[in-house]
Amino acid sequence: MTHSTDLNTTLFQRACRVIPGGVNSPVRAFKAVGGTPRFIERAQGAYIFDANQRRYIDYIGSWGPMILGHGHPAVVEAVQKAVLDGFSFGAPTEREVELAEEILRLMPSMDMVRLVSSGTEAAMSAIRLARGATGRSKLIKFEGCYHGHADALLVKAGSGLATFGNATSAGVPPEVVQHTLVLEYNNLAQLEEAFALHGPELACLMIEPIAGNMNFVRASVPFVKRCRELCSQHGALLVFDEVMTGFRVALGGAQSIYAQTIAGFEPDLTVMGKVIGGGMPLAAFGGKRAVMELMAPLGPVYQAGTLSGNPVATACGLETLRQIQEPGFFDALSQKTRSLVDGLKSAAAANGVPFSADCQGGMFGFFLFKDLPQNYATVMTTDSKRFNTVFHGLLDQGIYIAPALYEAGFVSAAHSEHDIAETLAAASKAFCLL
Ligand SMILES: *Cc1c(COP(=O)(O)O)cnc(C)c1O
Repeated sequence: MTHSTDLNTTLFQRACRVIPGGVNSPVRAFKAVGGTPRFIERAQGAYIFDANQRRYIDYIGSWGPMILGHGHPAVVEAVQKAVLDGFSFGAPTEREVELAEEILRLMPSMDMVRLVSSGTEAAMSAIRLARGATGRSKLIKFEGCYHGHADALLVKAGSGLATFGNATSAGVPPEVVQHTLVLEYNNLAQLEEAFALHGPELACLMIEPIAGNMNFVRASVPFVKRCRELCSQHGALLVFDEVMTGFRVALGGAQSIYAQTIAGFEPDLTVMGKVIGGGMPLAAFGGKRAVMELMAPLGPVYQAGTLSGNPVATACGLETLRQIQEPGFFDALSQKTRSLVDGLKSAAAANGVPFSADCQGGMFGFFLFKDLPQNYATVMTTDSKRFNTVFHGLLDQGIYIAPALYEAGFVSAAHSEHDIAETLAAASKAFCLL
């Protein structure tokens, strides 16, 4: 859609002169899908409004945090109150303790938690802790899982299991990723082989239990079960990266879902972010007391942050966590997300579009092929031109989904039945373009 004065374009041109690529996080740039990123002026409930005053139904929700929708009155009030008491003290506050207690109450695998400011920081710190706790260097991650942009985690698979990964970013020296082994998601044979080859040297295995950074791919129950067994057998820590899934797919995170079918299941460390800050910079990592007490100032594993446990961010996170514990919250959110996904499937079928989709809680993903993928390589067989057609078809009709085929979508409590119906009508038209 072209406007006589398209303020998004004007702003993007201005941004590109002063910010690399015009954005402060690469996927925002619309590079994968083409076109001009929308500059968001404000948001309310399920909607965001761009610089042209155009309204969109928002299925990105700041990439996950906005589970209540934008500008929830109770959260706004909590933040406004906190702001008046001061932005940051660099000293402990009661609210940090309250938030820590709340997180631990909802996530029984953790006895202690450390608050930080971003998921990247939390994942990076969890790995340092795992290495400190085990005295080992090596770690396993999976292709298609994203754990933030710490050096050791920006890695893709090497040429074989005996070889370690290659950096996916310039500026990451090979020495820094030489300890990172990258395996295929849901590949049990590779997992067995990796532990057989490297078991005694492994500090940890880090996994997104439901991978939202390759759209939406679940780790199978047998796979998670075997990850747990092998880590325990070999003395490596199992690290669940629940930055996206925590307080999003269920109140107890993805681990609570696996615990339903794997008796006594718990990861050793959990990494959290996104929803726990309710849209403010806040993240966390935690685990059992004996491991967490290795953190400075109690133990030898150093980690720190000027803004860690920030009083405004903790106010925002605490009120968000209170709201999602209202009776029936997750049932209602899950039903709504399910109705969106079922509706998308029907719309695709009616238009003869090969399609698959999945969801859990308020998180969903869809693929323009018939069967749900099990790993990154399959996700990436998506015809990106077809995805881009759907993306722009939706955007033109005021539906804002992630501008990349490997990103999950998010429904909030603020999305109404009417919003879902509007989205499905738009999807039908978008599928017609294929
Ligand atoms: C978003 C995300 C991160 C990184 O969090 P940031 O706050 O962007 O640094 C890490 N892991 C997962 C699973 C994520 O989705």
